[in-house]
Amino acid sequence: MNEIVPPEIQLGAITIRAGMSRMEDGTFGDSQFHPSAVIRIDDRLDPSSAAMTMIHELLHVISDTWHLDLTERQVCCLEQAISMVMYQNPRLMPSLQNAIRRTTMAQDPFVGSNPADGPSDPSRRS
Ligand SMILES: [Zn+2]
Repeated sequence: MNEIVPPEIQLGAITIRAGMSRMEDGTFGDSQFHPSAVIRIDDRLDPSSAAMTMIHELLHVISDTWHLDLTERQVCCLEQAISMVMYQNPRLMPSLQNAIRRTTMAQDPFVGSNPADGPSDPSRRS
């Protein structure tokens, strides 16, 4: 197992199979949603590039799951922006993760929600 690419990633009720494998030259990673969700990351990437590629491929799966129809450019911009925030604010992600974990343990806002239907809490929709 690789700490950047776990064998499975849970997105609501969707289990994304993930792994590192040798990709075609010039391809950092790829993903598919149908018939099952899969993310592959090139096994030659350094940890930083592998992490950013994982964010990129997750965004593709999220876009497919919620029918967002994000363009490649939008996925690339979001990948860069999310990576930048994570890099420049190293205490932010653990703090957000702890807060979400405490919330989900207390209220279970995601249990029973179908990721394809969007957020389960209407107050979070805009
Ligand atoms: Zn892409």
